[in-house]
Amino acid sequence: MTELTVRTSKREEIVDITDQIQKVVTQSGTQDGVCFVFCPHTTAAVCVNENADPSVKVDILDQLHRLIPPNLRYHHTEGNADAHIKAVLVGNSLFVPIVKGRLKLGTWQGIFFCEFDGPRTRHVWVQITPSISQ
Ligand code: ZN
Repeated sequence: MTELTVRTSKREEIVDITDQIQKVVTQSGTQDGVCFVFCPHTTAAVCVNENADPSVKVDILDQLHRLIPPNLRYHHTEGNADAHIKAVLVGNSLFVPIVKGRLKLGTWQGIFFCEFDGPRTRHVWVQITPSISQ
């Protein structure tokens, strides 16, 4: 298992971590298999989405913010109840296929870390499982 560090600079931010994860895949020497990505935080998440047009990230954050505003009357009084809910909706893990030593993503896809209660120093855990037939 490899632990990556992601430093976020805003309360809500989507950070492209595709290159960091590809580096882990490359260093593992795995040609064919599965890359498991896990976010060990309750107010952050990971997702796969478009990495071509940066305005997609802005729209995702804007609409999550609109759906789950930070200033409602929540039971959780730590001040970050909205961040917990956003983290649940986006999800805390991903599987990406590895083919010929590369993450097999769609043409417009990247892997993103989603911060909902930053800025903080965060971690992402990456586990590579080689195919048994390689
Ligand atoms: Zn909390």
